Amino acid sequence: MDKMKTLYHDLIKIDSVSGNEKEIALFIGKKLEEMGLQPHYSQYKDMENSLSVSTSIDSGKPGKRMLLIGHIDTVAFGDGWDTDPLVPTEVGDRTYARGAMDMKGGVTAILETLEYFVNHKEEFTGTIVAAFVADEEVLSRGTYQLAAEGLAADFAIMAECRFDNVAIAFRGRYSIDVTVHGKSTHTQYYPEKGENAIITAAKLAPEIEKLSTLTHPKLKHGTWCVRHIEGGNPNALVVPERCQMLVERFVVPGESYESCEKQLKDLVKSMGIEDKVDIRLRPRELPYMESFSISEDHELVTTLQKNYKDVTDQELPPSYDMSVCDSNILVVELGIPTVTFGPSGGNMHGANEYGYFEHVVACKEIYIRTVKDMLK
Ligand SMILES: [Zn+2]
Repeated sequence: MDKMKTLYHDLIKIDSVSGNEKEIALFIGKKLEEMGLQPHYSQYKDMENSLSVSTSIDSGKPGKRMLLIGHIDTVAFGDGWDTDPLVPTEVGDRTYARGAMDMKGGVTAILETLEYFVNHKEEFTGTIVAAFVADEEVLSRGTYQLAAEGLAADFAIMAECRFDNVAIAFRGRYSIDVTVHGKSTHTQYYPEKGENAIITAAKLAPEIEKLSTLTHPKLKHGTWCVRHIEGGNPNALVVPERCQMLVERFVVPGESYESCEKQLKDLVKSMGIEDKVDIRLRPRELPYMESFSISEDHELVTTLQKNYKDVTDQELPPSYDMSVCDSNILVVELGIPTVTFGPSGGNMHGANEYGYFEHVVACKEIYIRTVKDMLK
């Protein structure tokens, strides 16, 4: 079998569901050592079965730093598969397996790109940095860990699975706890006595969803979604004294948690219930991801588009993603202009996920050309 296809299949055969990335990280580390590169392993806190691995190639000449990055974890297998999700099964131009699309093809293309440059150090200046991160599908602990260790670059290619477009902007998101307080009493005295927190929350919820958001020419707008609500006691005759709402807020550039909180505070004030409502960002182990957009004219974007065209004879349109990914961390936290582009497929996160190996082959070529152009 073709060497690159063997690598793609070998990566797929390793079970690397989030939280269990140690084996695949060690496998990649061994591949790096075989190339003559030094693997650096990173562990997030006490997550012993979860490792990220990174490396770099120094051209020996001064220059900029290009980061190639991909995640090594997959979502769980789930039910409904026609084939074994750990066995790469080729049907026509598709390879069926968990991770075949998201994103062991991207990881393969990065490794192959590294191997090329190990053997062609005269073809670039500066440094190529590569990172294979754990936990992207959960809390992005791998990328946050590398960020804490000082991950830095001037440009990045996130090899996530999107082959017919390049993502240059993502929204951000926050989960906000809105707690409404009432006054409890025995229900026999209601409504003369007591105050029903559920009723107050029920009036507030639709008003929250009517709140405005900023707009962006391509990311369109943010969202306000009351996605969970809980209150009252079904087992006792008590007027509910508390109702808890979870509000999901997608944001576009220019919006922050502070701006969202202010909108909510202004709303409850206008409804005269400011003393009955607490608003706070739901605590999270790691920061929430903030929105970003890089310019369609950025040299990294236009260079990638040119190389895509040269390799595939197709155009690569820029795209604007309505959700979040590790690229948010690279751009917002680390200030690295990042394009998100890599081998794709179908049925992502579902049963019968598949990838196109021909995309992996093309991405290797496109990455090599883009690194050369950006690190001239
Ligand atoms: Zn992914």
